[in-house]
Amino acid sequence: MNTLEEYTELLARIDRINSAVSLLQWDQRTKIPRDGHAGRAETLGTLSRMAFELATSDRLGALLDELRGRDGLSPVEQASLRVVGRDYARHKAIPPDLFERFTVARVRSESAWELAKEASDFPSFSPHLSEMIDFARQFAELFGYEDAPYDALLEEYEPGMTARTLRSIIEPLREALVPLLRHLIDDGTPPETSFLEGCFDVSAQRQLAARALQAIGYDFRAGRLDDTTHPFTIGIGPGDTRVTNRYHEDLVLSGLFSALHEGGHALYDQGIPDELRPLGIADGSSYGVHESQSRLWENMVGRSLPFWRHFRAAMVDVFPALDGCSAEEFYAATNTAQPSLIRVEADEVTYNLHIMLRFELEQALLSGDLAVDDAPDAWREGIRDTLGVEPTCDADGVLQDVHWSAGMFAYFPSYMLGNLYAAQLYATARRENQDLESSIEQGDPRVLLGWLRERIHRHGQIFDPVELIERVTGEAPSPVHFIDYLTEKYSAVYGL
Ligand code: ZN
Repeated sequence: MNTLEEYTELLARIDRINSAVSLLQWDQRTKIPRDGHAGRAETLGTLSRMAFELATSDRLGALLDELRGRDGLSPVEQASLRVVGRDYARHKAIPPDLFERFTVARVRSESAWELAKEASDFPSFSPHLSEMIDFARQFAELFGYEDAPYDALLEEYEPGMTARTLRSIIEPLREALVPLLRHLIDDGTPPETSFLEGCFDVSAQRQLAARALQAIGYDFRAGRLDDTTHPFTIGIGPGDTRVTNRYHEDLVLSGLFSALHEGGHALYDQGIPDELRPLGIADGSSYGVHESQSRLWENMVGRSLPFWRHFRAAMVDVFPALDGCSAEEFYAATNTAQPSLIRVEADEVTYNLHIMLRFELEQALLSGDLAVDDAPDAWREGIRDTLGVEPTCDADGVLQDVHWSAGMFAYFPSYMLGNLYAAQLYATARRENQDLESSIEQGDPRVLLGWLRERIHRHGQIFDPVELIERVTGEAPSPVHFIDYLTEKYSAVYGL
C-alpha cells in the first residue's frame, strides 16, 4: 500500500466509525426508549474515542508530513491535506489532560445551565461560565492567532474568517437593519396572520413537512423524516441523510419552516460526492455555508411569493379550512417583523441583531472587558438598545442559549453569515438563471438545486468559505445583498 492509499484508508476508517456514531446519535434523539440513555452514552463514548484516537494518531501525522512534501497531488488531494492537517494540528495543540478536564467541566456546565435556565438563576451558572471562558482563553493561546484570540476560536466554525472582517460586515448591516425595522413598525401595515391561528392537527402537519421536503427536491430514497424535540439533520453515511422535525398544534408555520430549514441542510449533505469521504473533506465548507443552504431554502424560497403560488395547493390540501386564503396572503403572513426576546423565534429582520449582541458580549467576556457577573445587565442593555425590548428574567436573556455553557464561543457569527451568504448566493443564482423564479412557481426545484449542486455542494470542503463565496458570486462576503433582499421584500409586504 502506498502512502496515499494508507492515508485514504485511515480516513475512510474514521469516516465509518463516525457513521456508526451518527446513527446512534440519531437514534438517541428520536427513537431510544427512556431507559436506554445511560448505556447509549457509554457506547457513544467508546466509539467517539476510537475515532478521536485515529484522528490524532502519530501515524496520521506522519502520513500528512510525507504527503505534504510530495509533488503531483491533485487539487482535491491538496485540499484534503489542508483540511485534515488543520484539524489534526488543532487536536494536537491541546494536551490530553487539559482536554479531559474540559470535557468533564463541560458536562457539569451544561447541566448547571439547564437548571439555571429553568429557575432563571444566573448566579448558580456563573462559576461554570467563568470556567468555560477560561478554557476558551487557554485553547485560543494553544491554537494560536495573528490578530485576536477570538480568531483562533472562530477558525473552528468559519475557517479564514476574523473578528476584524466580521466587524466590517456587521457595522453596515446594523446601520441598515435598525432603521428598516423602525420604518416597518412606525410606517408600515403588518400583514394579516390571524387565519393561521388555531389548532392544526399534528399528523397533518407531519404530512405537510414531508411535502415541503419533496417540493425542494429532498431525496427520500436517501433519507427519512422523523419526530424529535430539537430539529436537526444528520448525515449517517453514503445514501443516508436524515431530517428530524417537531410540531406545535398552535403554530402551523413553525413546523413547516423548520422542515424547510433542515431540508436545506440535508440537500447540501445529499449533494456532497461520496468520493470525498476517504479524503476527509465530505462535509460543508463551514458552519456558515451550511447555514446558508438551510436559510436559502427556508427564507429566500420558502418565504417567497413564487413558492406560495405553488405550495398553497399542498397547504390547502392538508388543511382544507384554509381554502379561502390566497398565495399572496400566505406569502405576506410568512413575512412579519417584530422585535422579540428569543433568538430562535426571531424573524429575518431582527435575527441578525440578536447575533450581533452575542458577538459583542462574547468578545468582551473573553477579553475580560466584561466581568461574568455583569453579563446579565450587559445583555439587558444591549437588547434594549438594538431591539427596544427588555427581558424580565435571565432565562429570556443571558441564559437563553446553550452555546456558551458548552464552551462554544465564536459559534454565533456563523448563523449571521449563513443569512448573508444565502442572500448573496441567491442573488447570483437569480442573475445566472432567468427562469429560476418561474421554475419555483411551477413547483420545480431543479433549476436552483442543480445550480447549488454544481456551485456549492459538489465541492464539499475543497474551498474555505470566503474563497467559495468569492468564486461563486464574484465578490467577498458582503451584507449588501441581504440588506437589498430584506428591504425589497419587507417594503412590499408592509406597503411602503
Ligand atoms: Zn441550521
